[in-house]
Amino acid sequence: MLLFDKVSKKYDQDITALEDIHFSIDKGEFSFLVGPSGAGKTTLLRLLIREELPSSGSILFEDIEVAKLPRKLLPMYRQRLGVVFQDIKLLPTKTLEENISFALEILGKENKEIKDTTDYHLELVKLQDRKHLFPRQLSGGEQQRAAIARALANSPDLLVADEPTGNLDPDNAMQILNILKEINKTGTTI
Ligand code: ADP
Repeated sequence: MLLFDKVSKKYDQDITALEDIHFSIDKGEFSFLVGPSGAGKTTLLRLLIREELPSSGSILFEDIEVAKLPRKLLPMYRQRLGVVFQDIKLLPTKTLEENISFALEILGKENKEIKDTTDYHLELVKLQDRKHLFPRQLSGGEQQRAAIARALANSPDLLVADEPTGNLDPDNAMQILNILKEINKTGTTI
């Protein structure tokens, strides 16, 4: 599904974030990328979603050569990826439910589908009883679960999460991991 082929990323002449990275991920896999702070994990993610371009090497997502994708096809490409960012990025003026349904509205889905899909994912991350709250009213773990629900709403082929348990206590971290495992069981590559 995903191949990083000898990928390097230099931000400028002095900063080499990634050098000769080579790995592949199969459909249905649950993979972890671990490394100390500054190792280049976020950079790798930003290359995958094409927020940055590699300095050399190639990134293949199924049949797509990511770095060569025409700009106008980027939204379509990114819709196939569900991304949970480290800083979560929920919309602060929308409730949890609205945060998820908004992602579907943008895609022009019909009202019934929006409601059903939103409910399904709220249930999946066990936040049905919190759906009318705003992000600031949720705990860190709940916000992280909400971000996962939102990233999944569009049924992505691949879910990528940047340090999804980073700021959480062990109980909440375990809960997130268990949710990710459940999602993986339904066929989503993580
Ligand atoms: P990690 O996510 O593993 O902590 P990062 O990918 O954030 O690592 O960073 C890898 C290296 O690239 C670090 O040395 C960091 O300072 C550098 N870096 C990250 N983003 C930029 C940027 N936009 N400009 C310059 N250097 C950057």
